[in-house]
Amino acid sequence: VFAHLVQAPEDPILGVTVAYNKDPSPVKLNLGVGAYRTEEGKPLVLNVVRKAEQQLINDRTRIKEYLPIVGLVEFNKLSAKLILGADSPAIRENRITTVECLSGTGSLRVGGEFLAKHYHQKTIYITQPTWGNHPKIFTLAGLTVKTYRYYDPATRGLNFQGLLEDLGAAPAGSIVLLHACAHNPTGVDPTIQQWEQIRQLMRSKGLMSFFDSAYQGFASGSLDTDAKPIRMFVADGGECLVAQSYAKNMGLYGERVGALSIVCKSADVAGRVESQLKLVIRPMYSSPPIHGASIVAVILRDKNLFNEWTLELKAMADRIISMRKQLFEALRTRGTPGDWSHIIKQIGMFTFTGLNPAQVSFMTKEYHIYMTSDGRISMAGLSSKTVPHLADAIHAVVTK
Ligand code: PMP
Repeated sequence: VFAHLVQAPEDPILGVTVAYNKDPSPVKLNLGVGAYRTEEGKPLVLNVVRKAEQQLINDRTRIKEYLPIVGLVEFNKLSAKLILGADSPAIRENRITTVECLSGTGSLRVGGEFLAKHYHQKTIYITQPTWGNHPKIFTLAGLTVKTYRYYDPATRGLNFQGLLEDLGAAPAGSIVLLHACAHNPTGVDPTIQQWEQIRQLMRSKGLMSFFDSAYQGFASGSLDTDAKPIRMFVADGGECLVAQSYAKNMGLYGERVGALSIVCKSADVAGRVESQLKLVIRPMYSSPPIHGASIVAVILRDKNLFNEWTLELKAMADRIISMRKQLFEALRTRGTPGDWSHIIKQIGMFTFTGLNPAQVSFMTKEYHIYMTSDGRISMAGLSSKTVPHLADAIHAVVTK
């Protein structure tokens, strides 16, 4: 009965790794994957994560019962505190509901389905461009996806005027997806002053903000700095949604641990929102997994482990920033034509190089360097040893 099916294409991002794995070249380089690598090119399990896991193993009272539909309650409380700040008015006034979800993706999907079911506007505006999964997640959640201008290829920076025009023209009440920090794929974030303008515009038009926070701590190295835009939207007393992921900042990619928070106007509303979120989650996957959320809870509740985590996080962020500097310098010393300053200006895990699909394809074929066809490279996949190879390839392709 399935014989009529055609072969589906690989996921455009995950497919890069599939192609990389098939390449026998010893110099091959995978810059497609959005996962941190050490200077030796290896995946990293944080020390604090190892310690937390050891604590969990040593605790013989721990059981493997189902979690409630909303997940691990302590994890939810700690996650809200981490993203909104311990002194957040929304937490103080108890007008927030947080549910554990399957990493950032699951949090976006649950939030999307909740909005499609209960919010009066069904259109969500996402940045142009954005992470490839966003349009699919929200379409399948039952929302209509539209885009707003975000990136300016000419400056390789923010098209702030275009952004304001497009959000200004969106129908009142529309949902707007905002990347909290380290915009994927461009690495271009608004300044705090620009965030304030965005906030004012959105509030004046009654637009609903849905923050995607997949990189808290990864952009600047500071958890508080990276959460600032969200906190500005919460401080004004208005509503918003926040999807959090611990994939990158705790290196818990495969544990699928994240949280969806909905900030409401009152504790009473938050309680009813939570009851409805449970109806979204129950038929989808019943309840979330216990292990990853337990690791996060152990780290966030313990002052020493928390401090150790911030240091390890900062070290990852600093290594990425150092890769930016090294790549920029390597192109400068080669005299590669063009302005490459965006490599050091952009923020977070990715650089949007400005290379086009034909150039990307040349680099893959001739240099065995793998990246998404939009020219996005993961700085976390680079090391001091591989920077020269990448710089050679970029130099070759732009002088070809
Ligand atoms: N949002 C953005 C912008 C991302 O880049 C990612 C990860 N690539 C996610 C959400 C979700 O990732 P995960 O489901 O692994 O937490």
